[in-house]
Amino acid sequence: MKEIINVAIDGPAGAGKSTVARAAAKTLGYIYVDTGALYRAVGLNALRNGIATDDAEAVGATLGSITVELKFENGEQQVLLNGENVSSEIRTPDASMAASNVSAIPAVRAFLFDLQRDIAAKNDCIMDGRDIGTVVLPDAQVKIFLTASPEIRARRRYDELIEKGQQVEFKDVLDDLIKRDYNDSHREVAPLRPAEDGVIVDTSGLNLEESINKVIEVIEEKTK
Ligand code: C5P
Repeated sequence: MKEIINVAIDGPAGAGKSTVARAAAKTLGYIYVDTGALYRAVGLNALRNGIATDDAEAVGATLGSITVELKFENGEQQVLLNGENVSSEIRTPDASMAASNVSAIPAVRAFLFDLQRDIAAKNDCIMDGRDIGTVVLPDAQVKIFLTASPEIRARRRYDELIEKGQQVEFKDVLDDLIKRDYNDSHREVAPLRPAEDGVIVDTSGLNLEESINKVIEVIEEKTK
């Protein structure tokens, strides 16, 4: 049987992980799994129920009665919360901050762990997140840490939100991103950091096409 290929792409918010990973997956014929969507769904559930997203006990208590699932439609990932497709609703700045808060709760990480592992065990995939190469898929054949300066990442995120018609200020996007970076890299459980055997790709000076090509190049080199 052909070996299943797993590619882990980790990095801070706004590094372009999802766009780059999606495009590289399409070129290589792998599925693209965006694990941030899972944390966003758990965060959204807390927001909808008026639960403080940094209250570990209260958020933990919701986990027994919710379901979070991924499905793939024409290769596009959809995330279901209690059977409802929330793929658009999880993209607001509030849901981003909620995701960052709930992701620091160990019970939430444990809740989402098997789902991520199961998908990777069955499919050639590029999975992006914060701890994929370090915790979720430590045996992935390829591990990439995709990063860029905070200002460049905030500018990209800002342009993306404006394009979607959301009303945001650049300064708020930058402040949010710096706060999320801090949360993600200082939490006790699965902090954001490059895997020891990972390749760091800094996209600060690269445009989108160059970033995609660089990532494909790394994957091809490691899997040939
Ligand atoms: O990647 P995205 O911005 O959608 O992730 C939202 C939040 O979910 C991140 O700020 C991070 O706190 C959390 N996350 C995580 N581990 C992952 C993916 C996302 O902690 N594998």
